[in-house]
Amino acid sequence: MRHFTAGLQSVDPEIFAALEAETSRQRDGIELIASENLVSRATLEAIGSPMVNKTVEGYPGGRYYGGAEHADRIESLAIERAMQLFGARYANVQPHSGSQANLAVFLAFLTPGDSVLSMDLSAGGHLSHGAGPNISGRWFDVVSYGVDGDGFLDYDAMAATARATSPKLIIAGGSAYPRAIDFERFRSVADAVGATLLVDMAHWAGLVAVGLHPDPVPVADVVTATTYKNLRGVRGGFILSHRDDLARKLNSAVFPGVQGSVILNSVAAKAVAFKEAMSPEFEHYANGVLDNARALAATLVERGTTVLTGGTDTPLLVIDLRPLALTGAAASDALESAGLTANKNGVPDDPQPPKITSGLRLGSSAGTARGLGVAEFTQIGHWIADVVESMKSGSIESVAARVRGEVDGLVSRFPIYSV
Ligand SMILES: *Cc1c(COP(=O)(O)O)cnc(C)c1O
Repeated sequence: MRHFTAGLQSVDPEIFAALEAETSRQRDGIELIASENLVSRATLEAIGSPMVNKTVEGYPGGRYYGGAEHADRIESLAIERAMQLFGARYANVQPHSGSQANLAVFLAFLTPGDSVLSMDLSAGGHLSHGAGPNISGRWFDVVSYGVDGDGFLDYDAMAATARATSPKLIIAGGSAYPRAIDFERFRSVADAVGATLLVDMAHWAGLVAVGLHPDPVPVADVVTATTYKNLRGVRGGFILSHRDDLARKLNSAVFPGVQGSVILNSVAAKAVAFKEAMSPEFEHYANGVLDNARALAATLVERGTTVLTGGTDTPLLVIDLRPLALTGAAASDALESAGLTANKNGVPDDPQPPKITSGLRLGSSAGTARGLGVAEFTQIGHWIADVVESMKSGSIESVAARVRGEVDGLVSRFPIYSV
């Protein structure tokens, strides 16, 4: 039957062409967006398998549909691997995304109107931690903490705000904060005010997995994360805890609380990501991610660029463009024309609106996945500085063209997804 044999190219040439073009884009440029990575061939096979057809609800051993034997095997393996990888006593691998994982935690511990303390979006917090337009900001009474003048998390102010507001939930972690967080300090503040502590490790889960980053799992009540950023796996979220007494509460918050059926092909691919993350190869990868992020930050600092906090303990760093009187939007456009993809990002007290911003966020996870090392990331730092400087001197077109040519030379030495 044609339904089972005809390929995408003949069935839907428009989508086929766009997908091919995207693969080329990923192959031909250097990906510096901190929330992106490059998954393995094995991951692509798992996510593209006929498991996409299977519908199950509930958890392994307690499904609401028949024929769930293989689904159970896959989800059980994913859960066991997640627990083993992170030394947790509970794991839920069903959240469709990181935001869904956080939403389930809110449902488990909060009712509308409760107070939540989280990092301010402008200081590097995440939308799902209480931003105004997000359900978390609409339904909860959100108070925030930020960073000091050098960009470091202001623990004293955080503690004072917690004492003054007695939040029910405190969230540590963000999407543009480059430094290791003192989880113990958060723990003592949470204990002092009787709050539940959630750590969202979306951006550095891979570093935590190999012990290159402080481990939030033994300290926080609940940890949420994504598999697709630093963990180098498929798009999706998961939840961990060292407390098995929370298992029922968290499981029922995910299903039937905020989700219905399981995206099983995605769960299969998450299981692959957890397995890959247990390998010596991944340990080597994660070390490379950190070395490369630090080399990139050091090069930019050496070139006179303002890097928030002066460096990084994570796969990401943020450039403050205010001293150069440039915007994040203009800088990311200029870099893209040179073959370097990054995203504009707000900086603390940013005078620009969110669609413009005064910052640029850079990450090393994807570049490291294609094999780039410290030498290449040092070169990338010089290219970024060259492009940013050329925006000031009016030589942007020639500089971007020169860098684009050099990027072509570099990426051709580090191929991905060979056809
Ligand atoms: C990326 C991210 C998430 C998850 O976002 P989704 O797009 O919903 O997967 C959650 N928390 C933080 C801190 C993040 O950086």
